[in-house]
Amino acid sequence: MRYYSTNKTSPTASLKEAVVRGLAPDRGLYMPERITTIPSAFFKHIGEMSLGDIAYVVANTLFGEDIDSSTLKNIVNDTLNFEIPLVKVGNDRYALELFHGPTLAFKDVGARFMARLLGYFNEREGRGTVNVLVATSGDTGSAVANGFLNVEGVKVHVLYPKGKVSKIQEAQFTTLGANITALEVDGTFDDCQALVKSAFMDKELNEAMKLTSANSINVARFLPQMFYYFHAYAQLARAGVNLDNIVVAVPSGNFGNICAGLIAKRMGLPIKRFIAANNRNDVFLEYLLTGSYNPRKSVATIANAMDVGDPSNFARILDLYGNSHEAITADISGCSYDDGQIKATLRSVYDTDGYLLDPHGAVAYRALAEYMRPGEVGVFLETAHPAKFKDTVECIIDRPVEVPAKLAAFMKGEKSTVKMPAQFPAFKKYLMHC
Ligand SMILES: *Cc1c(COP(=O)(O)O)cnc(C)c1O
Repeated sequence: MRYYSTNKTSPTASLKEAVVRGLAPDRGLYMPERITTIPSAFFKHIGEMSLGDIAYVVANTLFGEDIDSSTLKNIVNDTLNFEIPLVKVGNDRYALELFHGPTLAFKDVGARFMARLLGYFNEREGRGTVNVLVATSGDTGSAVANGFLNVEGVKVHVLYPKGKVSKIQEAQFTTLGANITALEVDGTFDDCQALVKSAFMDKELNEAMKLTSANSINVARFLPQMFYYFHAYAQLARAGVNLDNIVVAVPSGNFGNICAGLIAKRMGLPIKRFIAANNRNDVFLEYLLTGSYNPRKSVATIANAMDVGDPSNFARILDLYGNSHEAITADISGCSYDDGQIKATLRSVYDTDGYLLDPHGAVAYRALAEYMRPGEVGVFLETAHPAKFKDTVECIIDRPVEVPAKLAAFMKGEKSTVKMPAQFPAFKKYLMHC
């Protein structure tokens, strides 16, 4: 399968090229050239299939031409080696809990899949070490570091702003050792990002070593997120609910997650419509309402993984719908909630249903509560475990939040970092000698 750039001025790329490059040379995002419909017989029996078997069918449809079936099966099983339960929360509403992976957030799925795929391509070529650079403001670093942990032939360098990530977040990428190095940058997240960008543009560095990014725009990170939409449908089929009117609410920041869901729908998954649930960063909602897209600076909220003012996957959504505002609004509606509304939702769902949301899931839950129509069955994606936002959540519900053993284990590890000034020459010197 070939992948084309949404900007359409770069040549198409193989899967391997698209994965190694991340962004196309014309700064566009890669899209699969064909979106194949899965035969309807698959959906008739999906309720009887396991998560691994469902994901393999989907993965094979996407990647089957490029990866042999036993390798693909291994990658899929290794990516999805945790539960993704669908939990009833109130009438006709279900939480798809995507937080049972290694770092308790949905980014684990894409990060692990990408890590294994990159490891596979690299091993097949047998050419030295690939260096993955990732700048993080918190959550991406932990998902990528844990996804790539112990993957042969790959070294990961996580750059994070010193003193600006939470203790729990920091523990998730500074205590791993092995092929993961955490760089504690004396600066801001923007400085970290600038260092990574400079590294990719430095000719001497790129001649001396193989550099790549594990950015969320990578096709190998974004497409595998499709698996769990199919799995949610299978669980609804098993539960015997009406499958004709399913609406999925997705807490959205860079819109990679929802975009994977939209492609799943295009492959035949019977989801009636999507709701893109936003915090106060609402450029997408504005686009839905007005047809014009005006990116702007993000504002800080308590659902901070969604603080994005110019969602990178917007280009993919436009492309998928042939730039038709009408077609986009037929499939997707939007909403935006401020911190006060997020807090009120989290608290009332906890009080009434005994279900503890995290601030991101709360945004999506509220979208269903307000916008589900009669006869619809709603699924909202619970993208992170509430303990990842312990202080915020405890303050809202006024009770202690239990920290899962997996998360507590990170806190017990020993922190090890390389201190780095926010200047490129120092970073370059580090890379040249790593
Ligand atoms: C990254 C993230 C999101 C947003 O996902 P996108 O794919 O960027 O839209 C939502 N919730 C949590 C917890 C996240 O970490």
